[in-house]
Amino acid sequence: MDFSFSAEHNALRETVRKFCAAEIAPLAREADDNESFPRELFKKWGDIGLIGVRYPEADGGSGFDKLSECIVREEMSRVSQAFSSAWSAHSHLGIWPIWRAGTEPQKTQFFKPAIKGEKIAAFGLSEPDVGSNIRAMKTTATKVDGGYRINGSKLYITNAPFADFITLAARTSPEPTAEAISLFLVALPNEGVTISKLDKEGIRASETGLIYLEDVFVPDDCLLGGVEGTYSIILECLSENRVGVAANCLGMAKGAMGVAHRYAQERVVGDKTIGKFQAIAHKLADMAAEIEAAQWLVYYGAWRIDQGTLDSATAAKVKLVASETALKVSENAIRILGGAGIMREYPVGRFHRDALVYVIGEGTSEIQRNIIARDLDL
Ligand SMILES: Cc1cc2nc3c(=O)[nH]c(=O)nc-3n(C[C@H](O)[C@H](O)[C@H](O)COP(=O)(O)OP(=O)(O)OC[C@H]3O[C@@H](n4cnc5c(N)ncnc54)[C@H](O)[C@@H]3O)c2cc1C
Repeated sequence: MDFSFSAEHNALRETVRKFCAAEIAPLAREADDNESFPRELFKKWGDIGLIGVRYPEADGGSGFDKLSECIVREEMSRVSQAFSSAWSAHSHLGIWPIWRAGTEPQKTQFFKPAIKGEKIAAFGLSEPDVGSNIRAMKTTATKVDGGYRINGSKLYITNAPFADFITLAARTSPEPTAEAISLFLVALPNEGVTISKLDKEGIRASETGLIYLEDVFVPDDCLLGGVEGTYSIILECLSENRVGVAANCLGMAKGAMGVAHRYAQERVVGDKTIGKFQAIAHKLADMAAEIEAAQWLVYYGAWRIDQGTLDSATAAKVKLVASETALKVSENAIRILGGAGIMREYPVGRFHRDALVYVIGEGTSEIQRNIIARDLDL
């Protein structure tokens, strides 16, 4: 067992840390206040190879592994989870299925410009009545001459308000099974597609949309991976992203811990800094231990992906532990700061609001527990 990072991993972490300090930290607070994502960042991410971090060089990527992607996510989320969320919806959810199942023309039209940050992707799975239970999907794609007509709606779709295309799931047969779900590449803007931006409490700088699709024509060559051949790809995409999202949560936990730790060393109450109160010191000790536990689980999940052995129960365990850790650590960070923790001057409140999103998004904690329980034959 080797727990050490390679020189490449360490160098990547350093590069991303510098990038985040220069390009994300100065914008994070204002973007959160204004609920507005600086779109030009996609091009900057593309230029330094961060979108393609774990895609092969032959496909235009940077050729690193999943562990590297987790390092990128962790470092970005330490500064702003909203920015990292926009990155994730684009760099993983939106384009991974194309890389995995796309034809060469689909890769040329969608994947290659996306990996350079020239086109922005979104991933449309959830619907107003379909979140946890994707088998109940209602959006339909009906075969017509030369393509499909899509009707339905998609809810809570990250990047939708400014995306250039959506990798979108729709039912291609009336059978109420998951296998009857197919994936389409829907270019935007498109006749029949209406998108409105949602007002959120968490990851506010990441723009999220409600999408209506009314008789939207999608040509045959925008069907991804064949008719009804993509459900297993969707599941694989979600499982891998659960490990990625766990790395985001690790970053948020570390970000909140860093603020609380510094504050405990500097804030003087009476004749001592608050870190000298055992109650505060123990809280920080617990936070450090919980982060350490989540950290090695996240890196283990990434390692399993790199070995090609990730299973859904492991992905669920990684996501469950890391997201609940981020929520708990960020709440404790607020408590440690006292009144200052409630003020927007410190980012701990933002970390906590953002962490709440991740005990829900990418499958709620209850759904992760269901997956783990199934694996236990319960
Ligand atoms: C900010 C944000 C961004 C998002 N971005 C995207 C995106 O880009 N693309 C996309 O497709 N989706 C996206 N989502 C959707 C997200 O994946 C769903 O919100 C999530 O899967 C939960 O679905 P739901 O909101 O419909 O909750 P519901 O499914 O309605 O669940 C409500 C409650 O019931 C519980 N519950 C439901 N079923 C069960 C069960 N079987 N057993 C026990 N408890 C259960 C849940 O745990 C939860 O507590 C995003 C969500 C948010 C909040």
